[in-house]
Amino acid sequence: MHEKMREKKVENYDVVVIGGGAAGMTAAIYAGRARLKTIMIEKSLPGGLATYTNEIENYPGFPEGNTGLGLMQLFERQAKKFNVKVKLAEVQGVELEGETKVVKTFRTDYHAKAVIIATGGKPRLTGAKGEEKFLYDKGISFCATCDAAYYTGKEVMVIGSGDAAIEEAIFLTKFASKVYISVIHDVGIMDANKVAQEQARQNEKLHFIWNTVVEEFAGSERLDTVILKNVKTGERIPVKVDGCFLFIGYLPNTDLFRGIINMNERGYIITNEQMETNIPGVFAAGDVRDKVLRQVATAVGDGAIAGFMAERYIAESEYFAREFREVKGPQLVFCYDPTDARCREMMTVVEAILQKHPEIKLSKIDVYKGKSMALRLGLTGDPCLVLIHGGRVTEVLALPGLTPELIEARIKQLAA
Ligand SMILES: Cc1cc2nc3c(=O)[nH]c(=O)nc-3n(C[C@H](O)[C@H](O)[C@H](O)COP(=O)(O)OP(=O)(O)OC[C@H]3O[C@@H](n4cnc5c(N)ncnc54)[C@H](O)[C@@H]3O)c2cc1C
Repeated sequence: MHEKMREKKVENYDVVVIGGGAAGMTAAIYAGRARLKTIMIEKSLPGGLATYTNEIENYPGFPEGNTGLGLMQLFERQAKKFNVKVKLAEVQGVELEGETKVVKTFRTDYHAKAVIIATGGKPRLTGAKGEEKFLYDKGISFCATCDAAYYTGKEVMVIGSGDAAIEEAIFLTKFASKVYISVIHDVGIMDANKVAQEQARQNEKLHFIWNTVVEEFAGSERLDTVILKNVKTGERIPVKVDGCFLFIGYLPNTDLFRGIINMNERGYIITNEQMETNIPGVFAAGDVRDKVLRQVATAVGDGAIAGFMAERYIAESEYFAREFREVKGPQLVFCYDPTDARCREMMTVVEAILQKHPEIKLSKIDVYKGKSMALRLGLTGDPCLVLIHGGRVTEVLALPGLTPELIEARIKQLAA
């Protein structure tokens, strides 16, 4: 009985999307619309971080703005319209190498041809007393671009002195009447770049409170006071504010992928512009990626590319299996560059010789268009002639040095 209880269910999909924020939903919409069997696994609320913000004014297409939740509900409706299955569960493990990828939740192993990681991140917290009570739309915010307008004519505080803290504090002065900045360092010392520091010093709306950390967040329904503590003297400094912005770092949700997927030193996943990670068939999109701007609009762009590339990867895998791996007899593959005159000339030679050997299948890979198919065969992507038998590469002849005589001799051998 116990053994049976431990048995996990297995479900098969074309695409598994991990994370149901703006990036994951968009990736799922693209994959679902490409008629791929797609599941999106989300551990809490579909919609991700954007659902925590009251108003999103900078996402194009909504001139009157929208609530974060309202916007993300539209995303979810659209994903479901394209038959995306939404599963509420936490992904606890992954096996991503190889053709079949496995995404594990407590009860089920999801097998997939392609995986899209869209697990986003979370802002780092101070850990001070009362913090949890005022998070997001109760007075503690993490995004000046998103929430600054709400504090027009009001007084706010920024915690931190890095690039984000100082630059966002300067941005906030366009809206707020006064911006306090709590800095842990001695007077005049900031972690931000020199240009930002200089601009900050000249901004009369900024008021630095040096040598301080947050001791407590206080208020009834909303935050109304930040109690700072001087790290040198221990003095408690209550400051009345309408809101407080934390810029003490952001933590990507990437623990699951450590040691498997390449990340930068801060734990963000490194991708190329195609959203490809270091593992073929595994893509990453949205805030979880190493990139310059973390917003809904950029998460959507990433998600669209990841969904599109997953579809292309699966189509290519199927073509590869059909054209190469599953072919039993002798086969010749010509990796050619149509812009190279020598390649065009050799193509004619190969085709003429093969007319005498109809038992040999000829496939062509245009390496000018893309190298991925050649790479799947273990080649470099440079023009060459490849001999395959029983789905296995037996010889690679590089284009330089290739003569009609050599080709004829090899084709005879292959046919024998
Ligand atoms: C308070 C606030 C206000 C903001 N306001 C704006 C704004 O006005 N305009 C704007 O453009 N941007 C705004 N942003 C930024 C915007 O929310 C993000 O850029 C966007 O949500 C990124 O989307 P994402 O899909 O990459 O990640 P997320 O939205 O973070 O979604 C990731 C999802 O993955 C899930 N997940 C993580 N790990 C797992 C796991 N192991 N298993 C299953 N699921 C998992 C999480 O639960 C989460 O739902 C704001 C951010 C904050 C914090």
